[in-house]
Amino acid sequence: MVVIHSTGGPTCDAKTGLPVWVAAGTLEDNLRHIEAHPTLGIHHMIDRDGTARASVPEGQVAHHVFGFSGRSIAIELVNDGDGRDPFPEAQLAALVNLLGELRQRHGIKRSGVVRHSDLDRAMMPCDRTQRRKVDPGDAFPFDAVLDRVYPLR
Ligand SMILES: [Zn+2]
Repeated sequence: MVVIHSTGGPTCDAKTGLPVWVAAGTLEDNLRHIEAHPTLGIHHMIDRDGTARASVPEGQVAHHVFGFSGRSIAIELVNDGDGRDPFPEAQLAALVNLLGELRQRHGIKRSGVVRHSDLDRAMMPCDRTQRRKVDPGDAFPFDAVLDRVYPLR
């Protein structure tokens, strides 16, 4: 399974205890933060300009999604994840390329490519009316990306 994330998304602010939206940030800052984190990890990150960086080796578990990390590869896209921030073509082309490689290397099926929001439907601990994980968000052209990786003959 491959799980697609965005770097931005909602979280509970530690100081106020209220929900806040974390913006996309930069590829460098996100990688540094995740790699310094004792329990979080990611396998691949793709910047808006299509720059792709590998982090945790694909043969090792990266903790990126509750309950499914042991059997999935994580791809993080630099994006606000708010349904408005557009995903540039350079970023989508790099993602299509990477998904094609993962398909080859690991035999990932179309149904095995999912969004974080497909797997985690829990609510925010600080606001039970809002979803905890909504990434990569509605601006992500999920079906179009899958059609490019798994073209109909
Ligand atoms: Zn995520």
